[in-house]
Amino acid sequence: MKSEGRIDILIIGDATTGSGVSETLIGKGFRVARADVEGYSHRSRVGGAIVVQAGERGPEFEALGLEPGNRVVALSDFLEALPDIQPFDKSGGPAPLVVFLLGLAGESSCRATRDALAASSVLLDDLGRRVAMLYGNLKVSAAGLEAEVREARRKGALLLRFSSARPTFVRNGEGRPAVECLDEASRRRLILHPDWIVKDEILRAGPGDLERAARLGAEPGPDGFLPSDNVYRFGLETNRRGILGIIPDADPLGRDTLEDDLAAAMLEMRALDRFDSWAPDRVAVIDPGLCARCLTCHRSCPHGAVAVGERIEIVPQACFACGICEAACPAKAITLRERDPEKGPLEAVPRPVLLDIRPGDLVTFGCRRSAERARALCGHLGAGRPADLVFVPVDCAGRISREMLMDAFLQDASGVLVLTCHPGNCHAEKGNLQARSRVGEVRRFLEEAGLNPERVRFNTLAANMGVEFGRMVREFKAELDQR
Ligand code: SF4
Ligand code: SF4
Repeated sequence: MKSEGRIDILIIGDATTGSGVSETLIGKGFRVARADVEGYSHRSRVGGAIVVQAGERGPEFEALGLEPGNRVVALSDFLEALPDIQPFDKSGGPAPLVVFLLGLAGESSCRATRDALAASSVLLDDLGRRVAMLYGNLKVSAAGLEAEVREARRKGALLLRFSSARPTFVRNGEGRPAVECLDEASRRRLILHPDWIVKDEILRAGPGDLERAARLGAEPGPDGFLPSDNVYRFGLETNRRGILGIIPDADPLGRDTLEDDLAAAMLEMRALDRFDSWAPDRVAVIDPGLCARCLTCHRSCPHGAVAVGERIEIVPQACFACGICEAACPAKAITLRERDPEKGPLEAVPRPVLLDIRPGDLVTFGCRRSAERARALCGHLGAGRPADLVFVPVDCAGRISREMLMDAFLQDASGVLVLTCHPGNCHAEKGNLQARSRVGEVRRFLEEAGLNPERVRFNTLAANMGVEFGRMVREFKAELDQR
């Protein structure tokens, strides 16, 4: 993917937006190739790829138990209908009510807030309607929005916030909607009979976005978009190094951030330009003589780093050396290897082993990034930990295998505690989740063997949780001693 010091960047994704991104990059002097989902396989060893995820906005009525139709509409549809709504003659009885639902199911946006406020202003000032805004997380961080909300309230709009329980929706005998809710401020139960219910639209990845993600071996977040909220990544990064995700329409403030995103992507792509001369210090390596082609590593690698071809191989540039594949490989064909400081040949990184356990010891396996630091802090704080605690640090909890946990019991440990980073904080994406699953397997094994499954426990913590570390091991130890 290299040419005259410039990498070729593969743009994958939505035809319209993808073309715009390609043109922008070409204008900046980059060599750009386009690929659609048919033309791309994640087994390709791309130097750099930008996946443009256009997403789709939808009202997702079902998330609130709403049935669309009969004056239950999406915000964009209501804005289109607004010019045709006739002013209400106030001598004809109480003014009809329009209820806006914002941020009650999924992340809303400043754009939706602004649109709803603009429509409210027309409804209140010109069309003689009443307005209620029912919201969960109201997005008001765009310039001037908070003042607009205050102005809507001043004009008579009813604003109700829902932090936990959500409103419920029913239809009367004529099919007209009614809203039942608890006003959290006054603790009064309210029943509203709106003329219209207007729901904001939520941005989520569309089917095309999801298909591309699957092909790339990149794992989407909860909304189906590739950039995840893992704390170790910057905004565009995905779980696959070298593959970046751009969502042109995602900014909660409604700004056009494409230029900024592309500038950030370019920095990353220039770093990738050094791929040919760059080699990781630590990487997983497969011994082809031992590999049974079971594909367990391919399925378990959270970074899409295991390529399947004539041989099963690990793409070094994509490998985070988490050790998940090493712990999972049934043929023991995978070893983590690292270079010495002089960049000599790759040497095997020894697997963590248990030495000098005395019967009755509590063995704790802990990630170096979180548990080991919390343990050190616990010592500094004098927060107290049992003397018979054997602590085994691992570079990533993904490297903890079933055999390691069972070995502790074979050596007569009283219990085994596995401590990892919190969900979403694992630098290797899923090392913590893999460790939790190994603990589950060992619990089941103990149960089947007629032993107490409570002798093995899983917990998460952060590096600054020294006090909690002490509490977790003390409490577990106390429970074990009572048995
Ligand atoms: S898990 Fe082990 S045996 Fe299975 S494909 Fe990977 S390296 Fe080969
Ligand atoms: S060590 Fe981790 S990142 Fe590298 S190939 Fe194995 S599972 Fe994937």
